[in-house]
Amino acid sequence: MAVMAGVLDETRRRTLEALCDTIVPAVPYDGDDETMRAYMARSASDMGVAAQIEGLMAQAMLPEEIEGFGQLLDGLSAGDFASLPLEVRTQVLKQVSASGPEAKLGIKVFKGLTMLFFYALPDEQGRNPNWDALGYPGPVSAPPSADEAPKTINVEQVSGAEQTLTADVCVVGSGAGGGVMAAELAKGGKSVVVLEQGAYRNEQDFKQLELPGSLELYLGGGLLSSEDGSISVLAGATLGGGTIVNYMNCIRTPEHIRKEWAEHGMEGIDQLEYDQHIDAVWERLQVNAEATSQNRSHRKMIQGMEACGFPWKPITRNADPACDDPRVCGYCYTGCQRGCKQSTMKTYLQDASDAGAKFVVGARAERITTADGRATGVEATVTNADGSITKLTVEAGTVVVSAGAVESPALLLRSGIGGAAAGKHLRLHPAAIVEGVYDEVIEGWIGQAQSAVSYQFANMEGDWGFLIESAPTAPALIAANWPFDDGAQHKRDFSASLKHAAPFITVARDHGEGEVAIDAHGRAVVRWSLGDEIDRRIFVRGNQELAKLHKAAGAKEIFTLHAERTSWREGEDFDAFLEQIENASYEPNDVAIFTAHQLCSCRMGSDPSTSVANGKGELHDTKGVWIGDASAFPTAPGVNPMISIMSLAHHTAGEILKEA
Ligand SMILES: Cc1cc2nc3c(=O)[nH]c(=O)nc-3n(C[C@H](O)[C@H](O)[C@H](O)COP(=O)(O)OP(=O)(O)OC[C@H]3O[C@@H](n4cnc5c(N)ncnc54)[C@H](O)[C@@H]3O)c2cc1C
Repeated sequence: MAVMAGVLDETRRRTLEALCDTIVPAVPYDGDDETMRAYMARSASDMGVAAQIEGLMAQAMLPEEIEGFGQLLDGLSAGDFASLPLEVRTQVLKQVSASGPEAKLGIKVFKGLTMLFFYALPDEQGRNPNWDALGYPGPVSAPPSADEAPKTINVEQVSGAEQTLTADVCVVGSGAGGGVMAAELAKGGKSVVVLEQGAYRNEQDFKQLELPGSLELYLGGGLLSSEDGSISVLAGATLGGGTIVNYMNCIRTPEHIRKEWAEHGMEGIDQLEYDQHIDAVWERLQVNAEATSQNRSHRKMIQGMEACGFPWKPITRNADPACDDPRVCGYCYTGCQRGCKQSTMKTYLQDASDAGAKFVVGARAERITTADGRATGVEATVTNADGSITKLTVEAGTVVVSAGAVESPALLLRSGIGGAAAGKHLRLHPAAIVEGVYDEVIEGWIGQAQSAVSYQFANMEGDWGFLIESAPTAPALIAANWPFDDGAQHKRDFSASLKHAAPFITVARDHGEGEVAIDAHGRAVVRWSLGDEIDRRIFVRGNQELAKLHKAAGAKEIFTLHAERTSWREGEDFDAFLEQIENASYEPNDVAIFTAHQLCSCRMGSDPSTSVANGKGELHDTKGVWIGDASAFPTAPGVNPMISIMSLAHHTAGEILKEA
C-alpha cells in the first residue's frame, strides 16, 4: 500500500520508528526453521510500519490530532528514546503509558497500528511475509471477475461543482435499515434517492484481506473508538453497511423486548401484526439453519458449554444454502466473496434499484434541510471516483435517516433537529473476548464466523446479562490484544499459539448508556464508559464465564484482553485467575472492549424529552424526517440486532407510505 506524504519531522519520525521497533523488534532465534528465523529477524522497520502509520495519519487525521500524537513522540524523544536499548525502551513505553489517560490511549493506538501493519499489510502479491510463521494462510481464493460478479445496482454518476436531484424520499445510508427502507418505499411507488458515504464494492472487490477489508469496508477504516478509547467501534461503511461485513446471526426480536418498546410508545410492535414484518425480512434474507455448521472455535465453545451444562443452539443465518462454503466463511468479515451472504446489497438494495431507486455512493450527507418545521431535503458532499468533489442537494419532502447509530445522530445534530434526545441513550452491546489456547489446531479463520449461541447468562441481572457467542480470528486484531510483556515474548507466543487459539465472546445487553455528540468539525464523537455498575458486573462475569468455558473445553492457556497480562496456564491456580479477572482494571484502555452493535441514539418513544422520533418513527420536531436504523430502538434488544433493525424499518416504511 502506498505511503502518503509525511506529516512528522525527522525527530518525531525517528522516535516513531523506534517505538514501532519496540513493539515488534528483531528477535534472536537459534532454531533451524528458516521461516521462523526470517520472521524473528524481521522488525517493524523492515516492513516500513512507521511510514505506513505516518501515511495513515496524513490521510485520516486533522493537523491538531497529528500534533497530539506528535507531542507524545516529543515526550519520548526528550529522553532520546530512539538511542536506548530495547529493554529500556520497553520499560519507558510502559512508564509513559502509565503516566496518564491520554498517553495510555496514544501508546495503545500506536501499538494497535504497529500490529495491524506488521501482521496485515499485504505486499504486491497480496501476501504478508509474517503469515507463514503464524500458520495463517491469508486469502484462500481470488475474487470473481467483474463478468462473474457484475455490479447490478443503479448507481447515479454526479459531476461538476454542484448538482441537484429531486425525489419523493432521500434515504441516508444503505445498511440494514436503509436497505429495507429504500426497497419498501421504491416498491410502494416513491421516487427514492439513496445516499451512501461508502463505495459500491461487491464480490469482485472482496479480497479476504484484513487490512484493506478494514480500511475499505468499515466506518473509520475499522479504527474507530470512543473518544477516550474505552470501546472499539466496529460498523460497516460501504454500500450495504454492516450487512456486508457482519456474521449473519439472525435472531427475531425477543417478546419481552417488544413489550418494553411498546411501553416506550412504539406503535404496533407488541402486536401479532408486527410478526409479519419480521417474517417478511426473514423470508427475503433466506434465513435458514440448514447451512449452519460449527468450526473448531465453536466446537470448543460447545464442548465447554456441554461440560458446564449450559444450553446452546445453532444459529439461523442469512446465507444462501446453495453456495455457502465454510472454507471461505472465516473471511466474511471482509465481505463474502461467494455472494452467499444475503446482505442488503444482495437483497433489498437490489430490489430498490430494480424498482427505480437511484443510488449515489461516496456521498456523505452533511445536513438535512428544513423549512417551517418540515424536511425539504439533504445536502451532501460527494467524492467522485476521480477524486473531484460535488456538492449535491437532494430535494425531497421525506428524509429517512439510516446512517447507523453513530452517524445518524451526528447528522441530526449538524442539522439542528431531533431535539434534546438526539445522540443520547446510546447503547453498544459491549463485547468481551477471552482467548483459549488449545493443544489442537483451531485455525479460527476457517469456517463460519458465527454459528452457535447460549442464553445461559442473558438474565444475569433481571433483564440484563450477556449472550455467549464466538467470532472469527483476524490475526492483526488479535495480535494487538495478545498478552504483551515485551516485543520478543509477544512475537514468540503469538507465532506459536495463534493457530491454536479460539476466541469466545460475550454480547451484553447494556443497562447504562453513552452518547454521540459532534465535535467542532461536525464529526461524530462517541462517549461511553463501563461506569454503570450493572454493566460492569456483567462484563466482569462475562470474562470469568468465558474463561471457565475454555477451561472446561481443555484449554492449556487462557487470557482476557487486559493490557496488564491477565492469564492462566495449565497447572496454575484457576480460582486465582478468576479473582485476577475480578480485580483487574476496567478503566479505559486497560481492557479491550468492542461494539459491533450501535443502538438507540435517535430513539423512538412518546416523550420528546427522552426520544427523538414518535411511535411511528417520525421526528417529534420535524415533519418528514424519519429514523430508519438501529438508532431508533428505545432500548438495547440484548440480541444481535440486524433482524430487529430490518423488521422495524419494514414497519416504519409502511407508516411513511401511509402518511406521504
Ligand atoms: C463485524 C460485525 C459483525 C456483526 N455481526 C452481526 C450478526 O451476526 N448479526 C446481527 O444481527 N448483527 C450483526 N452485526 C451488527 C449489524 O450488522 C448492524 O447492527 C447493522 O448493520 C446496523 O444497521 P444500521 O442500518 O443501523 O446501520 P449500518 O448497517 O451500519 O448502515 C449505515 C450506513 O450508513 C452510511 N453512512 C453513515 N453516515 C453517513 C452519511 N453521513 N451519509 C451517507 N451515508 C452514511 C454508512 O457508511 C453505512 O453504510 C455485526 C456488525 C459488525 C460490524
